[in-house]
Amino acid sequence: MMTECKICQQPLLETEQTRAVGERGANNINEKSEIRQSSIRVEKGDVVHIKCQQNWINKDRIAVAVKNLSTESKTTDTCRLRSSTPTFEF
Ligand SMILES: [Zn+2]
Repeated sequence: MMTECKICQQPLLETEQTRAVGERGANNINEKSEIRQSSIRVEKGDVVHIKCQQNWINKDRIAVAVKNLSTESKTTDTCRLRSSTPTFEF
């Protein structure tokens, strides 16, 4: 059975350092995902690369990611607005 890292979506290989996240670890990752405006969500027991988890919750990396988000949002504002509009048709 091939399992994928919930953060980088890459297969978890036996040669790589991986871990199953605990409840606190999962909460922490999900919290950082919100800051990063990422759709990545993990649950307790999900297996991730240790490196991915460390990078994901790293303050400096988050700062860079958020910075990139704000510069991107200026150019893709119209796209984002369009995609976030609910399409209710009655
Ligand atoms: Zn990974």
